Amino acid sequence: MQQQQLHDISPWNQNNDDLLTVTEQQVDEFKTNYENFQQQQDQYKKQKVIKVNTINCRGETRLIRKLISKYNWKEVFNDGDICMLGLPFKQQNYDEYLTQSVNRFPGMDLLAHKTQSSFYLNKFAQYFPDEYQFFPKTYIIPDELDKFQKEYKSTRTYIAKPDAGSQGDGIYLIKNLKDIKNYESIVIQQYISKPLLIDKKKFDLRLYVLITSLDPYICYINKEGLARFCTVDYEKPNDKNIRNPFMHLTNYSLNKRNTNFQVYNGQNILDINEGTKRTYTSIKKNLEILGYNNKDIEDEIETLVVAYLKSLLPFLEFNQKLVFQKRVSEIKCFQVLGFDILLDEKGKPWLLEVNSNPSLQIEHEVFQANGKSVFEESLIDSYVKELVVGDAIKLAMMSKEDQEELQGFESYKKLDVDQSETIFSKIMQIYGFLSGYKFQEYLTSSKFQKLANFPQMISQTFLKHDYDLLFRKIILRSCNTNLMDFFQFINAIEQLAGKLNQDLDEMLDRIISNF
Ligand code: ADP
Repeated sequence: MQQQQLHDISPWNQNNDDLLTVTEQQVDEFKTNYENFQQQQDQYKKQKVIKVNTINCRGETRLIRKLISKYNWKEVFNDGDICMLGLPFKQQNYDEYLTQSVNRFPGMDLLAHKTQSSFYLNKFAQYFPDEYQFFPKTYIIPDELDKFQKEYKSTRTYIAKPDAGSQGDGIYLIKNLKDIKNYESIVIQQYISKPLLIDKKKFDLRLYVLITSLDPYICYINKEGLARFCTVDYEKPNDKNIRNPFMHLTNYSLNKRNTNFQVYNGQNILDINEGTKRTYTSIKKNLEILGYNNKDIEDEIETLVVAYLKSLLPFLEFNQKLVFQKRVSEIKCFQVLGFDILLDEKGKPWLLEVNSNPSLQIEHEVFQANGKSVFEESLIDSYVKELVVGDAIKLAMMSKEDQEELQGFESYKKLDVDQSETIFSKIMQIYGFLSGYKFQEYLTSSKFQKLANFPQMISQTFLKHDYDLLFRKIILRSCNTNLMDFFQFINAIEQLAGKLNQDLDEMLDRIISNF
């Protein structure tokens, strides 16, 4: 009876037009929102107390403990539902990760070095020129020194970055070729010299992307993020300012040493403020006032992230298969990646770097008048990182079916990543086939020479023994003198197509169809 009464007074059943002032579109929106809300509630109900293994946590321990207490999860030092590693994935421990989720995919740390990640991104720019308009032109030195010297323009500024550097270490700007300090293991990149400025200062964005599964490929972008500001007003690079890191580099670890560094620890971190580190939400308010269209910027950022994720998939699949072999379907890896994005004065996003191990520290160093420093909790870091990691853990704990169904969850929005085959995924498949997905992923010359057995892989000008010569030429520069790695294999297979006078894509298809 009571149900009947409720039914009668529901606006859905009223014939009275005065009551129904909502449009059909609003009703649909309401229904969708309500359904999403219901789905999330169902997810919550399904959630149990998550046991988080913190034994291998590093700088993120404080954040993880905060989350454990916030959500009434349980900290454990053995087994558990989820293992939070502060270090790269260790191949030898792989069997531990068959019983629990782990916040790392095997192989992801291989891309931490700037030369390797730049090689990878350059290849994509080469294979998919239309999709990869967001990566500044980058040269790997010494391999591409000739190319750089040929394409160098004295009117441009470049930025040199050491291979294994991070936090701005060893980075410098170049206007003249003679400014290059060393030619070993660096990348030289075109400098985006007209960045979008807020309060006259350059800043970059750190946005977070989550991968929870490779098969199916399930990826999300977090709606929140950080903006890191320079501490000196920006000017186009010139001889006077080119060596001023506080003007050109946005790294927090550098700028915190400048007396102009401003900590905003007020309560309105989502509103416009003057801190050197701010939330993405607050930046969007600045951008709106400056006349930029946030929706367009966000769409472009998403397109960039999706293109990157598409290229990353074959690499992750290969490494996962390499480590887990036949047990690949049993594992539950997930990972949060940090995308460093610079907006130029037109509002176009440029990808500077993808960090496989983004800082999850929530304290910042505050310098005192006496020169000493103390560590205090940063409200901005806590707010953003609690969202990013807390919601990532909740999502990672769901079944793949649930993850697939949800179009978003809490602060994460699901991304639609195209999984169709690409030149890159084909090269990766062939590399996997030749290496046999054994723990030793490098190729020997005899494994490389197996390519000669496929149809049309020998010509009058390129005979079987030329495979060994090509192999030796490619590996010449590496310290591992008898083995070819994946990055060298890409060069080898491209050269092979050239020597056999064949279209690369067609050649790859023919090899794969004859596996
Ligand atoms: P690191 O890993 O050492 O921080 P990045 O590649 O992120 O190295 O570069 C450090 C900083 O230098 C960036 O945060 C950004 O402020 C600036 N920067 C890097 N590359 C460019 C570029 N191509 N154009 C303009 N600024 C850049």
